[in-house]
Amino acid sequence: MSIPFFFIPCLAALVLSGSFFPAHAAGSRPPNIVFIFSDDHAFQAISAYGEARRLLETPNIDRLAKEGMRFERCLVPNSICGPSRATVLTGKYSHLNGFYNNSNSRFDASQPTVQKLLPGYQSAVIGKWHLVSDPVGFDHWQILPGQGDYYNPRMIRNGEKIEVPGYVTDVITDASLDWLKKRDPSKPFLLMCQHKAPHREWEPALRHLHADEDRVYPEPPTLFDDYSGRGPAVRDQDMSLAKTMTARDLKLVAPARLTPEQRRVWDAYYEPRNEAFREAKLVGKELVRWRYQRYMHDYLACVRSVDESVGRILQYLQDEGLAENTLVVYSADQGFYLGEHGWFDKRWIFEESLRTPLLVRWPGVTPAGSVCRDIVSNVDFAETFLEAAGQPVPADMQGRSLVPLLRGNTPADWRKSFYYQYYEFPEPHRVQPHYGVVTDRYKLVRFYGAAGNTTELYDRLKDPLELRDVLGQPGYEAVAGELEAELGRLRRELKVPEEVPAEAYGGKPQGGPKPR
Ligand code: CA
Repeated sequence: MSIPFFFIPCLAALVLSGSFFPAHAAGSRPPNIVFIFSDDHAFQAISAYGEARRLLETPNIDRLAKEGMRFERCLVPNSICGPSRATVLTGKYSHLNGFYNNSNSRFDASQPTVQKLLPGYQSAVIGKWHLVSDPVGFDHWQILPGQGDYYNPRMIRNGEKIEVPGYVTDVITDASLDWLKKRDPSKPFLLMCQHKAPHREWEPALRHLHADEDRVYPEPPTLFDDYSGRGPAVRDQDMSLAKTMTARDLKLVAPARLTPEQRRVWDAYYEPRNEAFREAKLVGKELVRWRYQRYMHDYLACVRSVDESVGRILQYLQDEGLAENTLVVYSADQGFYLGEHGWFDKRWIFEESLRTPLLVRWPGVTPAGSVCRDIVSNVDFAETFLEAAGQPVPADMQGRSLVPLLRGNTPADWRKSFYYQYYEFPEPHRVQPHYGVVTDRYKLVRFYGAAGNTTELYDRLKDPLELRDVLGQPGYEAVAGELEAELGRLRRELKVPEEVPAEAYGGKPQGGPKPR
């Protein structure tokens, strides 16, 4: 194997870490990689995660858990769409890959990204991209511009603008399968199949409108969180069912891109229900409850289409004899609130938004039905793909390959803490910028936005719903000190700048948000 000159200095480190040696057997063909990535898919809405509040069945995604590994704690470094995508491609945090927020960041596509580091692979990205600049280094790409449309979506295929009839999840799946069918079978491939669903405004495939009929979904225990016991940041946000959801979110108005025929199907479902809602004139908690039920109906119907997509792709791999040598990954760009704390959306260091689903099937490598409880992250994905393909890992990537974990062997020095930082403020949801350190049990978080500078400590063992800041309370002095030290260590190790660059907030003046 030839080694590019610039890798020589880190060769020893790579050999020591095992990263240099191909994960596949000597002489065998490197595995294909199918990365199925959805947008805002909460782990709570995957039946394999077996949460107490069972919202729906996802048999196809669950198949990956049964035949592979379910990661219980996959954390994202910056819980928002574009930044997560930049992290997946680069293996770096936002402050090094330069993509901080969805407001004014633009991905610098000249930097090293995973698809460019897989020589001999054919690669494609199909679906949601959301990095503003065009994809670079893929043999084929077909993306949604910006957030994309749910119905009859506009797309850009290798630079050409097109419009594709149908429902976006089906369109992305069809295009992914089409590319697989036309690929050069003599080469391994990387397919990034990236869904828009179940992103806001949660517009379902018309065939799924009646899937749950008028089932009453279980409410989360914190639907009516009063935000007591914590600092001002959680009260200052604008992402609640009570005050933030729009008529479009709630399907009280129909989306513009439906054809007349599609519109009739849409209206047949929503209009009688909307009429009943208008007549009921709900207020207060009853209004929030109605909104929660409508939100869950629509969101979960979107998830059904994603689960079907996973099923179709797994079936194709099986039918073509590709399943045995294909690493299949299912994940989402971050977690999401399904009414917890009265919220939708993401952004916070708190568990529902910090944690993202991760399920991996790798026959012959990963034990079927296994569960990993170690702290992993989407910053690890690029290095994982590179090691799986037997390629060297650039020394400046900031994650760590999951290949040993996928084999069932967590290294003794695996991470016990994780650094998080969120920037975008104040639009669109007024979540205060913050950073912090996360361990298996604790979170120490520093908010530095307009609501005031506060540091808060959460003990998930005693307070799994994260409802009480315990910083300064008796018994927490030592752990707070240890977490402060760890936070400093992580910031140094990850090269986090002391001053947050002005552009990181999304167009705020120099220095970011000013205290009010
Ligand atoms: Ca997202």
